[in-house]
Amino acid sequence: MANKLTLDQVRAKSANRIAGLSDVQRKAAELLIDFAYACGVPIVITQGLRTIDEQNGLYAQGRTKPGQIVTNARGGYSYHNFGVAIDFALLLPDGKNVSWDMQRDGDGDGIADWDEVVAEAKRIGWNWGGDWRSFRDYPHFEMTFGLSTADYRAGKRPSQAQLNASMAKLDAFKPNKTEDDDEMTTEEKAAFKALQDRVVALESTNKLAKVPAWAEQACINAKAAGLLDTANDGSYDFYRLVTILDRAGVFGAKGGVA
Ligand SMILES: [Zn+2]
Repeated sequence: MANKLTLDQVRAKSANRIAGLSDVQRKAAELLIDFAYACGVPIVITQGLRTIDEQNGLYAQGRTKPGQIVTNARGGYSYHNFGVAIDFALLLPDGKNVSWDMQRDGDGDGIADWDEVVAEAKRIGWNWGGDWRSFRDYPHFEMTFGLSTADYRAGKRPSQAQLNASMAKLDAFKPNKTEDDDEMTTEEKAAFKALQDRVVALESTNKLAKVPAWAEQACINAKAAGLLDTANDGSYDFYRLVTILDRAGVFGAKGGVA
């Protein structure tokens, strides 16, 4: 598609949001953006690190300040405050607007885009807020190393060995799906075309001018069974295969052994 967003455009939308994350989570967020894109689903990270002051401001909303309540977490009580959580939204094809529509199937593959993102996130190692039992937070992912927010408030952090192990695992990840041939470069397209031409040429050198006598009856039987519409232009291997199938009784061979 001509107006499809490029991966660089999609990545750029989230660059500021993920900059404040801890190293492992930032890498995991980058992978999520790339892997979702490879599934045909551009996303944007709408929240990364949220400072404790920002969190207190959000908590005040709908309580001591106007607006609707948006969080139950005071400053220091959200994983966002420690740079280990992200929120995402679907990025629409205009590259500007976003969507939280969990049924949307923008790439038309019969799987909701949201579900594709969640599946990729879990594969990378994110815990999903949609799996929580009480307050489900569908756009939210976190990677906590088993530490509670109380642990984080108390200054506990994963060990360097844990972080190194996670980073090594993330570095080794490859996208689950690869982009389709939309993404082929001019050189790749030329190489592919040359290969195709070569295959066609090889096939025609192999083609036999007429059905060999030894395969005639097998071809007649295959036609009679409605499995073959033309017996002409086959290769030696093709006639050999038809003959073998005929001998195996696949075409209900008349006159053969039942
Ligand atoms: Zn969140």
